[in-house]
Amino acid sequence: MVKIIDLSQSLTHKDRFGQHPAHPVPYIFPYISHEESAEELNDVSYTTEWLNINSHSGTHVDTPKHFDPSTEAITTDEIQLDLFYGPAVCIDLSHKKPKTWITPENLEEACRKSNLEIKKGEIVLLYTGHWNRTHGTSEYPSGNPGLTKEACLWLYDKGVKSFGIDAVTPDNPIDQSENKIFPCHETLRDKKFIHFENLANLDKVVGKRFTFAGFPLKLKGCGGAPIRAVAILEE
Ligand SMILES: [Zn+2]
Repeated sequence: MVKIIDLSQSLTHKDRFGQHPAHPVPYIFPYISHEESAEELNDVSYTTEWLNINSHSGTHVDTPKHFDPSTEAITTDEIQLDLFYGPAVCIDLSHKKPKTWITPENLEEACRKSNLEIKKGEIVLLYTGHWNRTHGTSEYPSGNPGLTKEACLWLYDKGVKSFGIDAVTPDNPIDQSENKIFPCHETLRDKKFIHFENLANLDKVVGKRFTFAGFPLKLKGCGGAPIRAVAILEE
């Protein structure tokens, strides 16, 4: 039997604490209501909503165009779809404190403890516990631990397709605000190594091997897009 676990956050009207501080709050307005449409129709009514969201709202992918200013930069509508689907593992980094750095040694130790080996072509999810601990609070957008450049390259050198984290960014907020560097986003630019942000419910898949799926909206020319991330487990 197959079990599907939702790894996505809800995209919620006026959610102040759901996204990176650089991105706007999402607005989801009623465009037409059942009452309005019923006035013009016979025995039927419908509703639609008008979304005012960022390409990086909610659970989403960062594609190379996000940090690559070149005209050849790969955009969300162009990127190969196999990066969004395939065998995956989720490793436990939940002992890391807010705004600390995740190192290659931490990744190696997490694999050892979970008895999981990261194989070429897999997708790796990093369970920091940050979403579980802080979602819905002002701590969520800016308090996560983040990968060092070496740790991001460690994942890249393993030959993994992509990786994801349960925070607004895989970079340490201190690297962004004080050091003005973005190790993972620079690797996105330099190596075309994509990542997923704002994952949820990773506590339900930590230490496990499963199939990940999270395809992006086909937004032309954009450097990111919302995804519906799920884990598919054989039981
Ligand atoms: Zn993003």
